Order: sequence, then structure tokens, then C-alpha cells
Amino acid sequence: RTRVYRFGNKTADGSSKMKNLLGGKGANLAEMSVIGIPVPPGFTITTEVCTEYNELGKETTVNLIKEEIESAVENIEGTMGSVFGDQDNPLLLSVRSGARVSMPGMMDTVLNLGLNDKVVQGLASKTGNERFAWDSYRRFIQMYGGVVLGMKPESKDDIDPFEEIMEHLKRKREIELDTQFTVQDLKDLVYDFKDAVKKRTGKNFPTDPWEQLWGAIMAVFNSWNGDRAVYYRKMNGYPAEWGTAVNVQAMVYGNMGENSGTGVCFTRDAATGENVFNGEYLINAQGEDVVAGVRTPQQITKLGSQRWAELAKIEENDRAANYPSLEELMPTMYKELYKYQDILEKHYRDMQDMEFTIQDGKLWILQTRNGKRTGAAMVKIAMDLLKDGQIEEREALLRIDPNKLDELLHPVFDPKAIKRANIIAQGLPASPGAATGQIVFFAENTKKYKNTILTRIETSPEDLEGMNLAKGILTARGGMTSHAAVVARGMGKCCISGAGALKIDYKNRTLTVDGKEYHEGDWISLNGSTGNIIEGKVATCQPELSGEFAEVMKLADKYATMQVRTNADTPKDAQVARNFGAQGIGLARTEHMFFEVDRIKAMREMILADTVKGRKNALEELLPMQRADFEGIFEAMQDLPVTVRLLDPPLHEFVPHQLATQKELAEDMHISLAAVKGKVAELHEFNPMLGHRGCRLGNTYPEITEMQTRAIIEAALNLKEKGITAKPEIMVPLVGTYEEFVAQEKVIRETAQKVFEEYDDTIEFLVGTMIEIPRAALMANKIAEKAEFFSFGTNDLTQMTFGYSRDDAGKFLPIYLEKGILKVDPFEVLDQEGVGQLVKMATERGRSAKPQLKVGICGEHGGEPSSVEFCHTIGMNYVSCSPFRVPIARVAAAQAAI
Ligand code: PEP
Ligand code: MG
Repeated sequence: RTRVYRFGNKTADGSSKMKNLLGGKGANLAEMSVIGIPVPPGFTITTEVCTEYNELGKETTVNLIKEEIESAVENIEGTMGSVFGDQDNPLLLSVRSGARVSMPGMMDTVLNLGLNDKVVQGLASKTGNERFAWDSYRRFIQMYGGVVLGMKPESKDDIDPFEEIMEHLKRKREIELDTQFTVQDLKDLVYDFKDAVKKRTGKNFPTDPWEQLWGAIMAVFNSWNGDRAVYYRKMNGYPAEWGTAVNVQAMVYGNMGENSGTGVCFTRDAATGENVFNGEYLINAQGEDVVAGVRTPQQITKLGSQRWAELAKIEENDRAANYPSLEELMPTMYKELYKYQDILEKHYRDMQDMEFTIQDGKLWILQTRNGKRTGAAMVKIAMDLLKDGQIEEREALLRIDPNKLDELLHPVFDPKAIKRANIIAQGLPASPGAATGQIVFFAENTKKYKNTILTRIETSPEDLEGMNLAKGILTARGGMTSHAAVVARGMGKCCISGAGALKIDYKNRTLTVDGKEYHEGDWISLNGSTGNIIEGKVATCQPELSGEFAEVMKLADKYATMQVRTNADTPKDAQVARNFGAQGIGLARTEHMFFEVDRIKAMREMILADTVKGRKNALEELLPMQRADFEGIFEAMQDLPVTVRLLDPPLHEFVPHQLATQKELAEDMHISLAAVKGKVAELHEFNPMLGHRGCRLGNTYPEITEMQTRAIIEAALNLKEKGITAKPEIMVPLVGTYEEFVAQEKVIRETAQKVFEEYDDTIEFLVGTMIEIPRAALMANKIAEKAEFFSFGTNDLTQMTFGYSRDDAGKFLPIYLEKGILKVDPFEVLDQEGVGQLVKMATERGRSAKPQLKVGICGEHGGEPSSVEFCHTIGMNYVSCSPFRVPIARVAAAQAAI
């Protein structure tokens, strides 16, 4: 088995297809080498060796790879014409990690390896630059000391031991910058650094270059299991078995004088996707100087430089003289770089992010990778490459990360402003977008200021109006499917839920985070895409939907075989979703229609009624309002199907729990406060999620089902007169037994028949059920004898299959995720292994009874790409999701079909 793969000098043992074995960086270095890009020669030790190292330990691993490495180093020496460890003509090496996916900054790197007291002199005379040689040496000891010898700050508050020595010398010499050190200073630093290593580790700093090399290789392997890397892996769900490769390469220097430099460049604009070559560079500098931000980097192209100068308000003369582009300053180098970026982009058929170094008039490409980009750039680049003929339609669609489309749809923070943001806490990114506003703690106070952030321990349906008025919603409790999260996503409103670090005191109207107190009226900002809670105001801007966005959507519809509907409760939401391409409504939660101020009163009267007659009277009042709601929604959806779900939540959610509101209600209804209180107490449930809700309401109070059915059918008939063919699909929630469904179906059909007779006209409609109780999934074949469609309510199905309360899971889910007991939040990503079995089985059983059974999903998972793929695989007819997730689901559905 080969454990070491060489590259350089236009040949390589590996290729870009070997990312798993060579890591992303190693595979691309091999590939570049083969296609004639000048990369500094080197070799890659495979990720498998990392795994061997973890199993077998250092000694055995060294023996396994020793010969291959010695021969690979010889190979580098041959290409570079210098010798590792030689005092007159030294070769220096870099040692870098490189996993199969990029894990920026998570693992360690050692540069300038191979230096010691003698070699440094050889380097000085070879380059004729003593300062450069000693500066390289002190950087090497610093990096090697930190990475390999553990010379890190002793505690969190300590500074780096080497930095401390440098600071000390700067004070003594009364200078401020590293660049002000003299050669003698650098020599003193090297001496002091080595002394510090001896004192702290009890050992001399290794002088043998080979010992240094082995130390660095092992350190990179060790860094795979370092805290940072482990955390990053966990966050992204990468398994430990992957391991990291190690890339050892000849050092090239951008800091050898005015004819040297280093930079980073992109084949296209990573923010906008515009097809312009761009990047930054510094003359006489090493890579880390560009990133560190000590010196202002200059632009690579003349155009970029001019654009930059315009923003920085620099006159053209001044710009050309003091901040020239590489294109102007080193035209030959620029031309060569331009040629390589073109070759690389065409080769990889994607936007590349490259690093380069110019050493004394010779250009080297150090790295290339597919560049990270914004959602907007992702869309534009994919469509541009398609138009260019570089990729075909399917490939273009697969280039879209559906989740990233979200960025395009919600207001966003101004990228410049967000850089300065002070993040005070983090919660769950429940609903994306950016919101800035003044803190209020009560829904009714959302009218007090123009922009508010409704800040609650948790929200309840009573807060709906306030949530609608607020710019953003922040809760200390609750998960991704908590009330706040579900409602906010539906509204397309920014929401962060479950931010456990927040201490909210309703009585004193304060929010305390980390000892700091915030009051009503204080400004905060929420980034619903990251879960970051930010102190103060942050400027936002509206995203622009480009023409390319529409092109992606068109392509998605061409390839998707599964439809995408939306969860919408109002004509406005329905319209938004249609604009995003929804092909129907998969869930209209009718209870959301009852929360408006004038309706809740009638609703409360209905609930407080002691007799069927009293209840019917109150329902009579609600009927015209519901009918108007449905007319609005049917009209917005025109001829598309609309699934209307009958009342679902427990009645106690509709009655007031605050004394003042109870008093008001008693007065309104001309009954005693005690009677109101009595009813509220009577409705109290220990476990409302498993209580008197769903079809249990309709089965105990059939008059509610009657009223809702009547409203739906009448609305459809009224629209028929206007020439609109409404297609209602009436859905019974929370069914667990066949009989529960049949009893409701009977009420629905009888009521519809009555209305048809009254109107002397009919419409087509379906009656179906949600599958959201495990028993219903088990009994699916029986239920499908009667039900005309199934819609999986995976929020409840997840709740009841796991036995995790949707409203209380916020207390333990974060800990489960952190400990790895759960890999992902099952309320967010459908648990295909467990809950998915029920969904698959119920679909199969349902269709065994009724082959044409229409099947969809309307839980929150309907807009999550991996869950959408699952729904496609098991043959669902549609997924339904909140309006702002419709484009995401459309692309995910297309990708699943490709
Ligand atoms: C569900 O349970 O998945 C569902 C869509 O219904 P709700 O979230 O309203 O309970
Ligand atoms: Mg449900």
C-alpha cells in the first residue's frame, strides 16, 4: 500500500479524485501539478496513516512510512536543487494538515521547517538577506514551539509565551512593530525563545531537521483530535474516522524583497458571483501577513483597485502611485496568474479560491479549492457556468445548496455592520433573517415602538398579534418546533428560540445576559440565520432576487417529480408562497384564524358556553369570519388544491389566563368572574399536547366540525360563482383510530351535502387525515379505506415516537446534541431511521388499501432538504412547508429526482 503520494514538477502520484485519501488540499495539489500549474513540490501522507497513527502509535507509524518519506524528500531536493538540512544550500519545508473537507483554522501548520543555528546562516548567505533568514528562524521556533512542543498560553487569560518575550523586547527597545526589529534583535529573540522552551519543557529545541520533521508530522496527526477540530467535526457531523492527511512541501518565500509577494485570489466574486477575477496581495510578505491585517493588502486587478479606491475615497493619482494593482506593478506575473486562474476554473468547472506566492520573480500556486460563497453568488455562478456551457443543467442544480437559498429571501444584515457586532448570546436559528429593534417583553407592547424584538421566556398563541407586529422574536425556551419558531417561520419573521443564557424577568421587565442587564426599549439585533443575539442596532438591507434565482427555480421544476405546497393560514402568506412557486396549500391551520382580536371573543364565548345551543350560537358568529378567511385563501390559490385542517389545539389555549382579561371577558359575556375562572380551571390539562385536542375536539363537539365544513364548502361555492375552481381538501387532525376518522368524515360529508342542497350546486372536495400519531401509522391500511389522502404531521409524529414533548425538549435536546447522543435535532431533520420507518410503512400500507392515495408531509420537515429527499424516495406526492422554504424544497425535490 502506498502511504506517501508525491507531487510537483508537472507530475503526481495522486489526483483530485482522491480527496478521501489525500485530503482536499493534497488531492488538489496533485491535480494542479499534473495539469502543469507550478506548485512547490512536496508529498502527501494519506489520511489512512492518520488512522494507523491513532491505532498503532508513533513508533510503528514512523517505521511504516520512513522509507517512503525519505525518498519523497529526496525527490523535492531534486526538483528544488537544494538539500534538506544542508548548511550552504538549504531546503526548507512546510507541514500542513488537510482533511477531506476544508476545516479552516481547526488544525495546525508549521512553516520554515529545517532551520537551526547553522542552516540559518546558509539561508542568509544563499538569499543575501540576513534579516529574512533570522526572521524566518524566529517564526519557525514560534510555530514549532506552539504546535509541536505545546508552548501555548498556560491559561485562558495568559498571553502566548513567545509573544510575551517579543513584547518585552519591544518595550525595552521602545519600538512598536515586528518590522522594526534589527537583525540583532531577531537573533536575541531566537536565543530567548529557545531558552523559554528549555525552561518550560526541560528539553532543548530540536536542531536536527529530521527530528523536526517527524515532530511536525505527528503534531498534525495529533491536531485531528485537538479540541478545536473535534468541536468543528461535531458541529458539521464529520466522523473521526476520516483522519487528516499531512502535506509536506518545499517552502517558497514571498518575503524575499521587492520582487516577491504573496496573495489570495478568486476566479469570480464570492459575494455577488460576478464573473471578475479578483483578489489581494502584498509585496514582500508572507501569507499570514495578508490575513493578519497589519498591512493593507492591495488589489490584484486594476479594475478591482479602482473600485476599491472609489470606496476608500482615494484619488486615482494617489492610488496608482501608492496602491498599484499587481496588474500594474508586475504585469508579467499578473498575466501568468491570470492564465492559471483561467485554467483552474475551467478544469474544476467551478469558482476557485487560490493562494499564490511570488518568490523573486517566480510565481507559485500554493493552493486551490472551490471557493466559499454567499447564497446569491452560488446562484449566479451556477447559472453563469451553465450558460457558458461548462456544466449541464443537472450539475447546475446540484451546485445549489438549498439551505443557502434562504439567505436570498430574508432581510440581511449589512455585511460591513455585522463585522463590528457585539454578540451577547446564542440561541437556535429558528427562523432566518435579520432583525433590529427595541426590546419588549409583552405582546401588547409591540405597538409601543416602531421596531421591536418581542423577548419572551416562551410565546403562546395569545402573543400572535404581537409576534406579527414585532420585527423579530426571541425566546429563552423552546426548540425548533416551539410555537414561536413555527409561527415565525410561517410569517417569514426572524426568530431565535431556546436561548438558554437569557434570564428574563417579566416583573421588572429586564433581560439579563452574562451579568449585564437590558431593559425594555434597549436595542438588540437578531441574526435568525446563525442564532446570534447582538447588542444594539445593526443596519439591515433587503435582499435582491436576481433573474438567476428564477432560472434556478425553473430548472428545479423541470427535474422535480414531487410537488411542493405551502403551510399558510392567511391570503397574504398564500400569496407569498405562490410567488415562490408553491403548487398548493398543504396545511392551513384554522386555529390561527381565531386569534385576531374580534374573533377570539366569539371563540371564547363558544368555549365558555354550557350548552350545545349556546355553543352553536357562538359558532354562528364565527361562521362568516371563517368563510371569509377561506374565500381569501382559495382566491389567492386560484385553482390549486388547498388542504384545510380542522381545529387542532386544546381549548384552554383560547381562554384568558390573566386576571385583567378574565374580568373583561366576564363583563362582556355578562357572567361572573368566578364562572370564567371556573371554566379556565376546568380546561386545565396536565399534558395538553396529549389532551383534549385534534379530532378529539371535533368528536366531542361535532358542531365545531360542522361550522368549519360549512365555511369551507360555502366559500368554495361562492368562488365558483366568480369562476374560480377551489379545490378544498378537508383534513382531520390527530387521528389515532379508524373510528375517530370515520365519525368526523360522516359529519363533514353530511354537512357538505346539506350545503350543496341549500345552494343547489356542488363542488369537488376530498376528506383525508393527518398521520401524526404512531397508532395511525400502524393502522394506515385500515384508515386509507376511508381517507382520500394522508398528510404526515411529522412534528407530532416525532414528538410521540420519541416521546419528546415539543414544548419541553429545549431543556435536554441541546445537551443531547452536545454529547452526541443525538446527531441532529429530530424536530428539524426527520429521523429517517426511526420516525421515517413509520412514514414509509404508513405510506405503503395506505397505498395497499388505496393505490392512488395522495400522500404528503406538512410537518416542519417538509422544508428541510434531507427530509425532502427522503419524502421523494418513498414516493410522496408532495411536501408542504412554510412559504419562505418553498424555493428550498423545490430545489431539494429536484436534486432528489436527479
Ligand atoms: C404536525 O404535527 O406535524 C403538524 C403539521 O401539525 P401542528 O404542528 O400544527 O401540530
Ligand atoms: Mg400536529
